[in-house]
Amino acid sequence: MHLRTGHKKSVKKGLVYQLLLLLLLWGCMKPADLKAAIVSTNHMKYSYSELVSDINSLQKKYPNYVHYNVIGKSTDKRNLYEVVLGNPDAKKHLLVIANLHAREYMTIQLSMAQIERYCQNYNKKINKKLVSKTLGSVAIHYIPSANPDGTAISQYGFGAIRNNKWKKALKNMSGGSYRWKSNARGVDLNRNWPIAWKHSGSRGSAGYRGPKAASEPEIKAMIRWVNRIQKRGKIVGVVSYHSTGSILYGRCAGQASSQVKKQTTRMYKLAESLTGYGLMPTESISYARGCSREYFLYKKNIPCITLEVGYEACPLGAGEFPSIWKKNKDLVIREAMLF
Ligand SMILES: [Zn+2]
Repeated sequence: MHLRTGHKKSVKKGLVYQLLLLLLLWGCMKPADLKAAIVSTNHMKYSYSELVSDINSLQKKYPNYVHYNVIGKSTDKRNLYEVVLGNPDAKKHLLVIANLHAREYMTIQLSMAQIERYCQNYNKKINKKLVSKTLGSVAIHYIPSANPDGTAISQYGFGAIRNNKWKKALKNMSGGSYRWKSNARGVDLNRNWPIAWKHSGSRGSAGYRGPKAASEPEIKAMIRWVNRIQKRGKIVGVVSYHSTGSILYGRCAGQASSQVKKQTTRMYKLAESLTGYGLMPTESISYARGCSREYFLYKKNIPCITLEVGYEACPLGAGEFPSIWKKNKDLVIREAMLF
């Protein structure tokens, strides 16, 4: 009996040790930089309500480094948020735009996780440079979700739109909800910028340029936002996040100024080295069709790169996040360090 009790005890003890060992291993396996306390990155549908709650939590936790503004509202009355990281009165400003295309919503999660990482490391070094020093001279302005209505459609279906007029209209447009790229009015937000705009297509999941250039509330808000920042200082560059394909747009057409061309080249070379994404070989303004990148490069004279994260068809599954994170976690702060 004594032996059996002793055996039971040692089995129990063994189990406890095994459990402790497993917990220890699990802790080690989880990369330190993914220990995000606020932004959750282990599930696929990062929703609008999660975004709103995380922006508020980040601002409360890091009141000295994080500020946010509502720069406008979508058709379905969702807020278009700007999250400012660092010194809002800095002379230089770097812009980051994510989620212009609805189904590419993993770029919202990526942006938010980057913001949290740069806050967590504010008084530390990334690539041997103090984050606080960079953010003191270059403010980073994120639009983590440029298309919250379209994202709600892609995540939850047409029923997620509360505006009855557009909810009804959406059912007669082309394309299913799951792979929706446009906004709630069936306009492609990367075809509606006032650059080389010509009428084309009809309302639907992708490709429709809108009834006129800058017809959409999201685009109007972003143009106002860019102009407002430009009045306060110099916009040194724009990083635009899309998915998918693990490719990079960084070339400029002939009409770009030599300065824009030079800085855009520096930006894409850095992005290329960090992510390993392949550079798109050719680009021309004639293909632009109301694209944001061309708007910045040729109309605003601002250097701009576009990254297409991930490999699978959109929306990307949660399983892709760790590899996207590994390549992109430091990308934006490293781009800011260029200036
Ligand atoms: Zn896209």
